Amino acid sequence: QAREAGGNTYRHYARGLTDYARERVTMSSELNRAIERDELQLHYQPLVDTASSRVTGLEVLVRWQHPERGMVLPDSFIRLAEETGLIIPLGAWVLRHACLQAREWEAAGIPFGRIAVNVSGVQIQRSDFARTLESILHETGLGAERLELELTETFVMDLREDAQQLLGDLKDLGIALAMDDFGTGYSSLAYLKGLPFDTLKIDRSFIGGLPDDPASAAIVTAITTLGNSLGFEVLAEGVETQAQRRFLIGVGCRRAQGYLFSPPVAPEAVVRLLTRAARHATSSS
Ligand code: C2E
Ligand code: MG
Ligand code: MG
Ligand code: MG
Repeated sequence: QAREAGGNTYRHYARGLTDYARERVTMSSELNRAIERDELQLHYQPLVDTASSRVTGLEVLVRWQHPERGMVLPDSFIRLAEETGLIIPLGAWVLRHACLQAREWEAAGIPFGRIAVNVSGVQIQRSDFARTLESILHETGLGAERLELELTETFVMDLREDAQQLLGDLKDLGIALAMDDFGTGYSSLAYLKGLPFDTLKIDRSFIGGLPDDPASAAIVTAITTLGNSLGFEVLAEGVETQAQRRFLIGVGCRRAQGYLFSPPVAPEAVVRLLTRAARHATSSS
């Protein structure tokens, strides 16, 4: 049985469409319940200044605390949520809870910079998305400048002519926009230049090969150099080693994220991490 063997992920064995279909039906009704019963949790991963490790923001990553399966990671349920439409309530839940949490940290003087929330193309294309977002900001009292939305490159390319309008409406609210997993979707920097993005996140598949793999090194160097000169904030995803970090500093990549700095952590741990960093900065200045 896939479920027993899979631990905390859902695996699809090639045992015919019926098992697969049945698994999907079970999972989507469970996910639906999870949203209602608050079984979803948010973890936060620091976005840092590559050279100083100072925290400049936090990426919000959803987890599903399943009563029997344990912690389920988003790669195994986001796609299903997109296909079934559950991404709409799920996405709104994530946004609302992330903004509430950020507002709480802001009130407590915790220096988190801004929060970066992943949003799906399915969510953004709903005509009421900008309005929903606006009312979440209003309800929670979080300033728009404290929020960044991360969109994947493939989704943005699918939008074509609509991208300018849709993204422009979001920018008008005063939030920041990041292009996630950049480099995986074959869009050009020339195309990007016409869109209102603030941040380019270089996909972790290019960072893994640093510093020795010549192709990875060339790609990261090119994206960083061009990204910087076009005025984007360039961030490297999945930084795991000091050698990768040194390479990034060398080519002028000023932002990073990855296990080298911190894995995604629960909210309580964020507070410890940030208050420790703030004390450190005060005592050493
Ligand atoms: P992403 O937005 O590219 O998020 C970064 C992923 O890389 C996270 O996986 C994070 O845990 C992982 N990661 C961070 N540092 C390292 C590292 O040094 N090494 C390695 N190997 N991995 C690292 P996670 O949390 O499993 O999320 C996977 C994807 O699920 C995210 O990729 C994002 O596309 C999606 N996702 C997560 N939360 C949400 C959400 O609330 N809404 C939507 N629509 N998608 C989400
Ligand atoms: Mg992301
Ligand atoms: Mg990413
Ligand atoms: Mg990714």
